[in-house]
Amino acid sequence: MNQKIPLLFPNAISLTIKREDLLHPFVSGNKFRKLKYNLQQAKIQNKEKLLTFGGAFSNHIAAVAYAGAARGFQTIGIIRGEELRNKINENPTLQFAQECGMHFEFVTRAAYRLKNETSFLDELKQKQGDFYCIPEGGTNALAIQGCQEILTHEDAVFDFVCCAVGTGGTISGIINSILPHQKVLGFPALKGDFLKDEIRNFVQNEQWEIISDYHFGGYGKVNEELVAFINQFYGETQIPLDPIYTGKMVFGVMDLIKKDYFPKNSKILLIHTGGLQGIQGMNLKLKKKQLPTIDTHV
Ligand SMILES: *Cc1c(COP(=O)(O)O)cnc(C)c1O
Repeated sequence: MNQKIPLLFPNAISLTIKREDLLHPFVSGNKFRKLKYNLQQAKIQNKEKLLTFGGAFSNHIAAVAYAGAARGFQTIGIIRGEELRNKINENPTLQFAQECGMHFEFVTRAAYRLKNETSFLDELKQKQGDFYCIPEGGTNALAIQGCQEILTHEDAVFDFVCCAVGTGGTISGIINSILPHQKVLGFPALKGDFLKDEIRNFVQNEQWEIISDYHFGGYGKVNEELVAFINQFYGETQIPLDPIYTGKMVFGVMDLIKKDYFPKNSKILLIHTGGLQGIQGMNLKLKKKQLPTIDTHV
């Protein structure tokens, strides 16, 4: 669903937001898109188990737990950080995944780094039996195919499409589905230049740009300015943003508007990928540090 943002911008610029967050109250919209064809493939291969990887607050872990259970799969999450084993009840993401029936295996950060090695996967196969493996963050060719369904023909009116970037799967699907007059801007939620090469491997045109100035220090990092922005935006529009992805992206777009990046009369579409389940966990961290928290309706 597209929603016009009821704010006035200079240069007759207009902003619309695609509410993929409304696909589910807890699971990120783009994670459903990324799982759609993977779950179909797992059924075709007669797999009973899905196995995937993620950190403590992973939107992808929550999505696999939920969507996997809904399609009748057992789900296994390989979780980064052994110390989390006894802290499931303090972690809203892991608690949700567990309630969906996900079985966890907690591994050290050192072991987690080896997760793509054949020896690591072979060991898992011995322990867990046969499974359909979904990479960390859920990005593979089938995920990108799913994300090519985010834009629809009604989106042809827009000049720019803006979206948050983690592993690059979501933006790759969007890039592959845009029209010749459109441009995609990606706002990475983490530091590092590797993303451009990842995306280049997946896409078929060059109508895109990565804007790396708005990661706020790296993945999962926030500051008071970002929290204040998210709260102000929520107050003015009633649209909640998450602190890991969409908050940083919308902050970046607003800043670029201020800096006259966009031509006059630009019609901009923001993709709200979701991630709202991450607010609870972030607020627990902020409270511990006695910092302002994110206003929330949930
Ligand atoms: C995972 C996620 C992203 C990033 O998606 P990638 O395909 O990994 O780039 C963006 N927004 C939200 C809310 C997410 O959960």
